[in-house]
Amino acid sequence: MSSTTNKTKTPLKLEELTWQEFGELVPKKIDTVIFPVGTVEAHGVTPLGTDNMIPQRISDMIAPDLKAMVAPILPYGITKTLLAYPGSLTVTSPTFESFITETLNSLAEKGFKKIVIMNGHGGQIDELRRAAQNVHQSRKVKIVVIHWWLLCSDVSKEVLGQAGGHAGIDETACILAIDKNLVKKQKYKRSLAYTMKDGVNAVPAPGTILLYKEGEGYPEFDENKAQLYLTRAAEKVKLVVKEIFQKWEQID
Ligand SMILES: [Zn+2]
Repeated sequence: MSSTTNKTKTPLKLEELTWQEFGELVPKKIDTVIFPVGTVEAHGVTPLGTDNMIPQRISDMIAPDLKAMVAPILPYGITKTLLAYPGSLTVTSPTFESFITETLNSLAEKGFKKIVIMNGHGGQIDELRRAAQNVHQSRKVKIVVIHWWLLCSDVSKEVLGQAGGHAGIDETACILAIDKNLVKKQKYKRSLAYTMKDGVNAVPAPGTILLYKEGEGYPEFDENKAQLYLTRAAEKVKLVVKEIFQKWEQID
């Protein structure tokens, strides 16, 4: 199995450097940073931190090839419809947006010219988009926000044979690939899942597994496919970010 990006190269992590090391690297040698963000939220039979673990791992996998540093994750986000479930945590939308905006400003201030926000959670897409737009306008830093599961929906169909879902086959595969002990397969039953329907907004969500397409996306526990899915998903994210970086060179 190909695992070109999975754990082959060690990512450079901001929080592991000394200030002297950082000063020698940024911006002279490294001008790109990946900033993972997620939330703490109920997820079927995968951990409450699923939306943190996946963007963290994808960031670590792609950073070396993008010549990027990985910034510490923001693990608290905006949890909405699943907040009623045990262990789900949230912050408010203005707090989250301010935190993101100020962190982006601070990363730009320290010399990064390109920022990749690696988002793991669907409840904060608008806030991330606004923060990226505002910081780009005020500081001229280039920012791309990646919502990995949306970008990789075709990878889900290709490798797993079906559409995914919140805590569905795609996210479950990622956690299985990251650490199979974190997936509580014996607790899984199909009744945990609810297929989302256009024209329906239920609060709280009627399940902790929320599927995008009727009859598809139910978690499976094939470790080989899981590894392949995470590898391919990270590869796709990397290629998309690389293309954007190349296009940005036109305006450097
Ligand atoms: Zn999730």
